[in-house]
Amino acid sequence: MGHYFDYAATSPVCASIGCDVFRTFGNPSSSHAEGAAARRLLEESRRDIAALMCSDPEEVFFTSGATESNCTAVFGACAARARHSKVIVTDDSEHPSVAAPVAQLESRGYTVVRISTRGGRLDTDALRDALSQPVALVSIMAVNNETGAVYDIPAVRREIDRSGCGALLHCDAVQGFLKYGRNGFFTSQCDLMSVSAHKIGGLKGCGALFVRRGVRIPPMLLGGGQEKGFRSGTENTVGIYCFAEAARNFGSSALKGVYEKTLDAVIRAGLSPHIPESHCYHIISASMPGVRSETLINYLSSVGVYLSASSACSSKKKGNRVLEAFGLAPDEINSAVRISVSPLTGDEDIAALESALLSARERFGK
Ligand code: PMP
Repeated sequence: MGHYFDYAATSPVCASIGCDVFRTFGNPSSSHAEGAAARRLLEESRRDIAALMCSDPEEVFFTSGATESNCTAVFGACAARARHSKVIVTDDSEHPSVAAPVAQLESRGYTVVRISTRGGRLDTDALRDALSQPVALVSIMAVNNETGAVYDIPAVRREIDRSGCGALLHCDAVQGFLKYGRNGFFTSQCDLMSVSAHKIGGLKGCGALFVRRGVRIPPMLLGGGQEKGFRSGTENTVGIYCFAEAARNFGSSALKGVYEKTLDAVIRAGLSPHIPESHCYHIISASMPGVRSETLINYLSSVGVYLSASSACSSKKKGNRVLEAFGLAPDEINSAVRISVSPLTGDEDIAALESALLSARERFGK
């Protein structure tokens, strides 16, 4: 498969997942034995995901991925709190699946306050000011998918509680779940939390939304009333099983060592990393001065080393609002690449990355 450094975009499917799961094909809503077997698989998976989130199974709702979880959380929380406030507080470097629904609500008359994340640090003074009024929703991600910055979610929780602004707290924890902090670190702070299966070795098209007990938000998908009426549609039992199996097998203890070795290699190869004060151990943003991102990633791809310019979701868009918000200069943004690792990243991958970066610098560098 070459040398893969794009785990923040997606990951290969967990090795312990075999074809056996396809034998459980029943509809979990059917009352015969095939349906019951599928229901069992679904509920065992929910139980295990909930345990890893340190939540109760009743607080976990399966979705088609974090994009759906994020949209459901943003629209749902604002609908639930519509009488209380039409103010949303978020930050300036959210994933598009939070930024876009927030922008749509803004166009419908909501007031949106976007807190600065310059240098990868959430401006908690500005947050405190923003919360000195009734607020419907605060949506702040756990770990930024482009810079690896970890935002201080416990501080956000404290500010919400201290202010009495009445907001629900949503956290996009896609890049943090199982990869940063002890299990349950983010869940314990939030009312709503989004996670995605394919970032940890599950299948694409599957995710979950944690909804704290007692928090009521309206569903986005109406129909057969699956997921206790919160998310209609026949459950993706295979995807959900694979999500749970990948989560059970995700070994984050190797991440820090892999990150440090990769960072050393990146620096030795002449790139300038953009390291936030508080960061995760699987995403490195770095620039090769004078070499455009596309030139570098295309060359690396031609020699079997795969990484991305920013996030896969924004690779077709012009400019980069996340790196601008971080405070990078235009030439640093134009030459920025994202290198992301996993416990699967081996020493031979890191050596291949370093030698490919060195040869790219010889070819294209000034
Ligand atoms: N949020 C973040 C931070 C992400 O990195 C991603 C994946 N690019 C998503 C949300 C969307 O997840 P999904 O692909 O499951 O819709």
